[in-house]
Amino acid sequence: MALTNPMKIVPLNCCQCSALLNASEEVRQVLCQHCGSQLAVLHEGSAAYTESREPKPMEVAIEQLLEESEQQRELAVLDRQWQKERRQYMVIVYDGTARVPSSSIANDTVITSFVGGLLFVFIAWLFSDNLLSFVGGCLLIGLFVVIGLGLSRLQHQRSAAYQEAERCYRRRRLDLIEKPEAFPSKGWG
Ligand SMILES: [Zn+2]
Repeated sequence: MALTNPMKIVPLNCCQCSALLNASEEVRQVLCQHCGSQLAVLHEGSAAYTESREPKPMEVAIEQLLEESEQQRELAVLDRQWQKERRQYMVIVYDGTARVPSSSIANDTVITSFVGGLLFVFIAWLFSDNLLSFVGGCLLIGLFVVIGLGLSRLQHQRSAAYQEAERCYRRRRLDLIEKPEAFPSKGWG
């Protein structure tokens, strides 16, 4: 049975803390067990030595913290702007609450003006003593319905504008979150 050639072990010192490390000859990167530094193993003739391959852990931590807080700050600003912008689109619905505009609210307005219109035609018919006052009542009701339809159309437009603004806000938020790291990658590739 053939034995595989064992890899040659070379003695190394950590360049950060001087701890003795043993790494096989093939190894080009090593993690110091003593201080946790990522080290590159460099060879010069038969000698091997190490070199730090990353900023000191504390610097990395601070840099990450700063970048994260900057991102958080930008997100907070964006969210605040959106909350303000969103309020401008709000409509007061029948139960008195403010809602963002939607097609269903606009459709409710159409239904309300039609149902309301029919109801008032009936009331006008009940209470008018002659044809002229009935026709006059119907004309007023017609005006009411037309205003309702106009409002509904405005609400549809508002709803579309709101949805576009919301899409824009979500896109900007995603862009912020997925922004590539500002400092050089810590990877080995
Ligand atoms: Zn070390």
